[in-house]
Amino acid sequence: MSPDPDCLFCKIVAGEIPTNVVRESERTLAFRDVSPQAPTHVLVVPRDHHRDVAELAEAAPETLAELVSTAKAVADDEGIEAHRLVFNTGAEAGQSVFHVHGHVLGGRRMTWPPG
Ligand code: 5GP
Repeated sequence: MSPDPDCLFCKIVAGEIPTNVVRESERTLAFRDVSPQAPTHVLVVPRDHHRDVAELAEAAPETLAELVSTAKAVADDEGIEAHRLVFNTGAEAGQSVFHVHGHVLGGRRMTWPPG
């Protein structure tokens, strides 16, 4: 899918907005969240623009698999065996950037249920 000129994460993937990249793969990019909610808070995105995880699963399941592998590699790099991989899907669920991203969160005790 071609980049969306209005999409923040497309601009980050293109290198137009500086960000703290921690890992890259052929189809994905992982970078630190600008407003971390845990000692480790990394976002993993596909390089291609897809609105949310459901759309990505339908359009490019192999990219979703690579995104999950990248998230696991980030957790290993950060030394957080216990971690959360979260995909907020839809505004009511807390999604604010509509370019699919997995939040890799760890380094502190997590509670349940989430807010
Ligand atoms: P969402 O609310 O869509 O699940 O998550 C979007 C995330 O993107 C938030 O955690 C927010 O802090 C992060 N974010 C928003 N703008 C930027 C930015 O310009 N750079 C980085 N690295 N993260 C951002």
